[in-house]
Amino acid sequence: MLLLIPGPVTTRPEVRAAMAQDIAPWDNEFRTFLSRLRERVLAVAHGVAGEHATLPLQGCGHFITEAAVRTFLPAGARLLIPATGAYADRMIRLTREAGRIPVPLAIDPDRPTNPQAVAAALAADPTLTHVGVVYSETGSGVIHDVPAIGAAVRATGRRMIVDAVSAFGALPLDLSAQPEIDAVVFTSNKCIEALPGMAFAVARVDRLLASAGQAGSWSFDLESIYAHALRAGWGSFRFTPAAQVLAAFDRALDFYEAEGQVARLARYTANMRVLYEGVRDLGLSPYLPLEHQGPIVMNVHAPTDTRWNLQAFVDALKKRDVLISNFYNTPTPSFRVGCIGAITPDDMARAVVAMAEALNDLGIKQREAA
Ligand SMILES: *Cc1c(COP(=O)(O)O)cnc(C)c1O
Repeated sequence: MLLLIPGPVTTRPEVRAAMAQDIAPWDNEFRTFLSRLRERVLAVAHGVAGEHATLPLQGCGHFITEAAVRTFLPAGARLLIPATGAYADRMIRLTREAGRIPVPLAIDPDRPTNPQAVAAALAADPTLTHVGVVYSETGSGVIHDVPAIGAAVRATGRRMIVDAVSAFGALPLDLSAQPEIDAVVFTSNKCIEALPGMAFAVARVDRLLASAGQAGSWSFDLESIYAHALRAGWGSFRFTPAAQVLAAFDRALDFYEAEGQVARLARYTANMRVLYEGVRDLGLSPYLPLEHQGPIVMNVHAPTDTRWNLQAFVDALKKRDVLISNFYNTPTPSFRVGCIGAITPDDMARAVVAMAEALNDLGIKQREAA
């Protein structure tokens, strides 16, 4: 089965096999394993030892994003969030529910955020201490230029939190060059190509030290995770971790290191191009112009044909071993297809053939966007 939902992604059998063991998470062997894993993650982020720390948290992307917001913004603080789409909306909601104040920055969600718009918003409102950015907006498929937005944030002396859940490992990231980033957050199950269940932040130690007691949640407190590591060692968890998920993640990092970020991004970009050309050849309309289409996920306008039915399309694809999302994430209906995971352009070409057959099953003739 090709899992193109996108995330959890298609994984390698070796990665899945790494889960098939019993693990004692308080055992010394696991402690050595976890310390080493933290270093490997730090290297992927180009973090600096002593300046940045890898902080694992059980759970999903929303959990680690909330933990970062709670940890680095005191209650009542104001977070500027470019309204890039469905995942920025989620950051807005969890910020509000955590008792911080989200300040959405209205932008054209089908275009990369203009760093000057961020700079202008920060200049106009000195009460904004932080900016929250979704690096790869999974709702739209647009990539937002974290280095360029970060430069604007840095120039105004503000801080930044980066949701890199669908970007980490594929898109360039160099924390050593972006001291304005308090934390970048991501999960085990997207571009690192492992299984779901663990989330991570790579965060600045100086900001962690300044944030003690601020989270208002023991569970979602990155400073508490950091303080625990100082006290009990870098191989220890506060609460029972998804140890098997970490074992699989570690195995996935072997493949990641062998491939490298540049080649991984090139592979995803090649997947996206095959999909983009493929759906156009089927008479369908991609949601974004190619110049703004990122390499992670693509939306395709739902055909105008009255016989169109997303769930029926998904079911027809699934019969052919291709699984895509069965919900809409864009203001006008579109189906979305992930380009990430342990898949190649050949796999994507296979998915396009399956789409052609599925459209025929449904009898869809009128395929262009309205
Ligand atoms: C997948 C994703 C998340 C987190 O989703 P979870 O279901 O909580 O793991 C957050 N942000 C972005 C950009 C994502 O793609």
